[in-house]
Amino acid sequence: MSSTGQVRYRIEGHIAVLTIENPPVNALSAEVQESLRSAMLRATRDSRVSAVVLIGAGSTFIAGADIRQLERMAIEGVARSTLPQLVAEIEAAPKPVIAAVHGAAFGGGLEVAMGCHYRLAAPDARIGQPEVKIGIIPGAGGTQRLPRLAGIEAALEICVFGEPVSADEAMRLGVIDRIAEGDLLEFALQFAATCTTARSTRERADKLRTLESYAPLFTAWRERVRKSRRNLLAPAAAIDAIQTAVDQPFEEGCRKEREIFERLLVSSQARALIHVFLAERAAAKVPGVDKRSAVIPVETAAVVGAGTMGRGIAMCFANAGIPVLLKDTKPEAVEAAMGAIEAAYHASVQKGRISAHEMRTRLSRIQPRLDYSGFDASDIVVEAAFESLEVKRSLFAELSVHAKRAAILATNTSYQSIDEIAQACPHPGRVIGLHFFSPANVMRLVEIVPGKATAGIVTASALALAKHLGKLAIVAGNCPGFIGNRMLRVYRREAQLLLEEGASPKQVDSALEEWGMAMGPFAVQDLAGIDIAMSSRNVFAGLEPPGIRHSRIIEMLFAQGRLGQKTGAGWYRYDEKRTAHPDPEVETIVLRAARAAGIMPRSIQSAAIVERTIYALINEGAHILEEGYALRASDIDLVYTNGYGFPAYRGGPMRYADEIGLESIYRRILEFRAVHGINWEPSALLARLAESGSSFRAWDNEESYRYAVAN
Ligand code: NAD
Repeated sequence: MSSTGQVRYRIEGHIAVLTIENPPVNALSAEVQESLRSAMLRATRDSRVSAVVLIGAGSTFIAGADIRQLERMAIEGVARSTLPQLVAEIEAAPKPVIAAVHGAAFGGGLEVAMGCHYRLAAPDARIGQPEVKIGIIPGAGGTQRLPRLAGIEAALEICVFGEPVSADEAMRLGVIDRIAEGDLLEFALQFAATCTTARSTRERADKLRTLESYAPLFTAWRERVRKSRRNLLAPAAAIDAIQTAVDQPFEEGCRKEREIFERLLVSSQARALIHVFLAERAAAKVPGVDKRSAVIPVETAAVVGAGTMGRGIAMCFANAGIPVLLKDTKPEAVEAAMGAIEAAYHASVQKGRISAHEMRTRLSRIQPRLDYSGFDASDIVVEAAFESLEVKRSLFAELSVHAKRAAILATNTSYQSIDEIAQACPHPGRVIGLHFFSPANVMRLVEIVPGKATAGIVTASALALAKHLGKLAIVAGNCPGFIGNRMLRVYRREAQLLLEEGASPKQVDSALEEWGMAMGPFAVQDLAGIDIAMSSRNVFAGLEPPGIRHSRIIEMLFAQGRLGQKTGAGWYRYDEKRTAHPDPEVETIVLRAARAAGIMPRSIQSAAIVERTIYALINEGAHILEEGYALRASDIDLVYTNGYGFPAYRGGPMRYADEIGLESIYRRILEFRAVHGINWEPSALLARLAESGSSFRAWDNEESYRYAVAN
């Protein structure tokens, strides 16, 4: 046995076994590629060898590219890769090469497997071309070989949406030749021993028809992507590349694919999406918490408050296999909650996402309660009652009597201080903020907010629990609104002030939606309720420096009972189908507010709307960082891309600021400061980074760990 770098080489009978060893996921780094090339060369020259088995060490085959190396290429603007050549060499090998896949064969991993002559898979294996998720397309023949194995339609599905495919499905599609029985390597060795022909994927033509016969299919896919992948470059480019598999020879198709890959890799979308991908890895690193940290295992849970949030949170526990009690004050409230939960699960069954049996299992894990019976056995209690400090404090005082001594006491508060809630308990160290987003069973994001007194084990446990629930946890400091809602406040404030200056709600919403936000701020507020926005406004009143200017328009809407969609009118008027229409009454209210504020309305361009609102997010994000309420700029980006509909292809507000250049952002903010006053007090951190020609990215790498999350 010997090894060529990260590929181990050994002979079993007449078979060369090449084992890729690049833990944890055998990412296809430049070094792995080089080692694989040498090992392949050695196997083809080795006269003892009749066939080659390629397998991954540890828990997986090759889970994809080395994203850090891709990022370097994206930033340096040079897309250089030797992978297409390596895959072509494997395919051209004179001896049969068999890929034995377990775990994941994703991205370049699948491209390598498709270059092999046969593909065997363990039953748990998954394949996929997830490149679109980081703004690129397969670059080593994936868009050319996959159609030849699986047909055009399946290739489109896999490359355009980037979702993984199970071994069974891959076998049905023709990507996998056999599912292994028993030990994968043993199975592969037996298969290899009987294998004499080196059959190449590129020569397969049985699944390809003429371009004309595919024309309607490609048109339909282009339309589908235009609608469902708005503004994204990669999914449409994947369709273009796959089309060349039909209308061009293999080599030409590969050349076209490469051209598209290289163009996309150096695009701002790829840079932003790679940033978001790597930001998730960084977010999991929290100072003071690591794999060895003690945690409180959460085997049973309880939720207080069975409203919008409590229902979703209870479902999160049930979905993760954790039995949960769901308590409210009145029988009608728990009945309504159980009915809504059942309806939500029923909808999942109808969409084919879960089986009817799974629905019953999940439902049986949720037990309604009108009292605290059983709370003394719960490992965590999540409070999701009304957003009132008094209500929450009296609830936490009760919980400290009824909950288990060692239980975590979490609050889902949006704006209240964790410290003030914790002080209602004799053991404030058990209290932490767990800020889920609505609908809690759907949204991945959770802000984890330790207070001053929160014990380390409680923070570590909350992080472990979030992971177990399949959530993306971001640690935020205990400031009003934490990260997300604190920034939302200034974003909405500027959007509303723009109305007084002459823009309409529709114009603001459209400008931001075209720029990439999932929904404009006024449409969102109408959906969530103007009453909710008003109550958060009251929580903040008195917390911010004097002189900050807010528009009064929202108060006027509220006074008129225009609470949003639920009353048929808010920033817009709604018809029976809940379609939003601009409302002349709102125009009148806006004009009245502008007059009262002494403002002469003017015409406002879309670009100016985007600058005012997005730069407000950036400046507030910088304040949050400088005050130590976020660990790093990239955490803020994740909060915005996962919780507030900020386009991931712009990377999040802080990453977008880096892309524009902090100097130019800072200069513009100073101009806003001159015109609009202290609403635009620039963050000192932003000023320092801008003046030194630096970026949030550089700050994340070099300085952010000097800051803890401030308490
Ligand atoms: P909701 O009004 O829909 O539900 C609150 C529920 O709590 C009601 O059913 C009420 O009967 C119950 N309740 C009140 N006092 C109680 C008590 N003493 N004991 C038991 N139950 C009690 O509110 P919601 O939208 O679910 O919000 C709940 C919490 O989550 C709030 O703190 C809110 O700020 C926060 N939150 C809401 C959202 C959102 O989008 N709705 C998002 C994140 C966080």
